[in-house]
Amino acid sequence: MPGGTVPDGAAQDVDAVLHRAVAGTPVAVETLRAALDDDDVVEITHGRLSVAEVRAFAETLDQWPVEPPEAVTCATCTHYRRSEHHPHLGTCAAGVIPGGAAGLWDTDRRHCPHWRQP
Ligand code: SF4
Repeated sequence: MPGGTVPDGAAQDVDAVLHRAVAGTPVAVETLRAALDDDDVVEITHGRLSVAEVRAFAETLDQWPVEPPEAVTCATCTHYRRSEHHPHLGTCAAGVIPGGAAGLWDTDRRHCPHWRQP
């Protein structure tokens, strides 16, 4: 997370700061926690990053494509557009370019950051 040199504030409970930062946003606290590096956690612990600053960072995460931890298939994705000419091939309405010329195979497993549940 970008930031400057800020004097220490009161010691903070990192979990409490993260929960307050994502309150009312679509960002899960786990997503925010995963996006922070060790230095960010130290900054929060020492009160050098406010809840408002962490919240501003959290709000940017909603716009980041995040790779799902589990492999997904196009067949289970709302963006999948099945071909009328083949039972297992299709295209992606989210703009993912298939690796092969034929299109996306519906049951191939991939860590696609654009996958969305229908
Ligand atoms: S967004 Fe990803 S998972 Fe969904 S159809 Fe496109 S390539 Fe497949």
